[in-house]
Amino acid sequence: MTPSSDILAKLKAIVGPKGWSDDASTLAPYLEEPRGRYKGATPLLVKPTTTAEVAAIVSVCAQAGVAMVPQGGNTGLVGGQVPINGEILISLRRLCAVRALDSDNDTLTVEAGCILADVQRAATEAGRLFPLSLAAEGSCTIGGNLSTNAGGTQVLRYGTARDLVLGVEVVLPDGRVLEHLSGLRKDNTGYDLKQLFLGAEGTLGIITAAVLKLFPRPRAIETAFVALTSPAQALALFRHLRAGHGERLTAFELVPRIGLEFVLKHAPPARDPFTSAHPWYALVELSSSEPGHAMREALEAGLAAAVEDRIARDAVVAADLAQARALWHLRESLSDVQRREGGSIKCDVAVPVSAVPAFIREAGARVRQACPGVRLVTFGHLGDGNIHFNMSQPEDADRDAFLARWDDLSTEVHDIAARWGGSISAEHGLGQMKREEIARYKSAVELDLMRLVKQALDPKNLMNPGKVLR
Ligand code: FAD
Ligand code: ZN
Repeated sequence: MTPSSDILAKLKAIVGPKGWSDDASTLAPYLEEPRGRYKGATPLLVKPTTTAEVAAIVSVCAQAGVAMVPQGGNTGLVGGQVPINGEILISLRRLCAVRALDSDNDTLTVEAGCILADVQRAATEAGRLFPLSLAAEGSCTIGGNLSTNAGGTQVLRYGTARDLVLGVEVVLPDGRVLEHLSGLRKDNTGYDLKQLFLGAEGTLGIITAAVLKLFPRPRAIETAFVALTSPAQALALFRHLRAGHGERLTAFELVPRIGLEFVLKHAPPARDPFTSAHPWYALVELSSSEPGHAMREALEAGLAAAVEDRIARDAVVAADLAQARALWHLRESLSDVQRREGGSIKCDVAVPVSAVPAFIREAGARVRQACPGVRLVTFGHLGDGNIHFNMSQPEDADRDAFLARWDDLSTEVHDIAARWGGSISAEHGLGQMKREEIARYKSAVELDLMRLVKQALDPKNLMNPGKVLR
């Protein structure tokens, strides 16, 4: 329902004169997402600063039957944070205090609008680690990270955002507040309600605060770049390193030659770590809370054995932090540099780690057949089975004509991932982008249960309607 001027006045009064806007130029950056695929519209942006204000806003909207969209840092890649039907836009950015640190319990309680980099910094200042790390960390918020169950580069060791939370505070779609800022690691008293809101993309309520798990800070980190023949060889190397280094293996990222070439061309001061070209690479990171050089020596020995056993072609280990950063730069620039090579179609899929080589082989063959000349920039978190199966347009192709094939080419890729027991969204969510397509891959029972949960918590369909589920 379109909100009346009376409702708008009530909402403005809740947040005060500095807490709202309906000015087109102020609203513009909130209404378009990073890839520019979705543009939204809203009659009002509200920026509450307390949980009580969020609850009051939601209560007014709920009673009036007005729909709402929660937004954090607006870095989401599936359009979940964009109001598509003139909903009230609720930005959590000003709800950004660090509420509490409990060192002995190893927990940090933060408000939803805290920027991820600030959460990491607060953990560092306390001599701890908050391991969630992704390229958008300077602008995404912890509320958005939890709502999308964000992944990133440390999932192999620490799990996804879902695994890093002990408690949440949530404003429900009717305006009531679920206060569950528990710091318990053990609590077997019925359904784990917090999990409902993690990865729900704002469709079941608004997360206003969370209790996060902290970890010991690593005192030694070693980074290596390894040249490989194929994804199958990458999997063999992963197996070898995991056997040799156990939980110290923190990241194992796959990089294709074409991706490295794009980075060398478009992301200075990138440098090829090897003197000759190789078809594939892995970026490997080990970390340990024990200081010293023992791990470095073990990694060098492990990689030398891998080259000897022909499960790697060559390897370099970073000598210092600057070299480690330079190696990570090669991996982290991959997504961005694709923009400089024309249109790209991006698929964020997961398959069991054991199926990664077969998936890449099959999907690659299928897509090359369907679109001759397509340039496959297949990279990602091999260690947890999450592959960013990205396709750059053929060099001489028309950008728009290529992008018009987004649905048909991504469906080919998703079908193959599904056949390997995979998921069509490993870390970005469904948002509005994949809400129709998910019906093709989830069972009737799964979809039915998801709808029942939505219906139970949000019977009037006012909380981020049209996202995740149709
Ligand atoms: P938004 O984009 O504002 O919102 C995302 C979704 O969460 C929306 O559905 C919104 O309604 C909902 N939401 C936001 N805040 C709340 C709240 N407080 N309560 C309830 N619902 C809420 N993602 C990964 O997982 N791994 C990566 O490696 C990764 N890399 C990225 C790199 C770049 C350069 C970019 C631009 C994005 C990347 N992303 C990645 C995607 C994005 O950063 C994550 O999805 C991030 O977690 C979103 O946080 P946000 O605060 O920007 O949320
Ligand atoms: Zn990723």
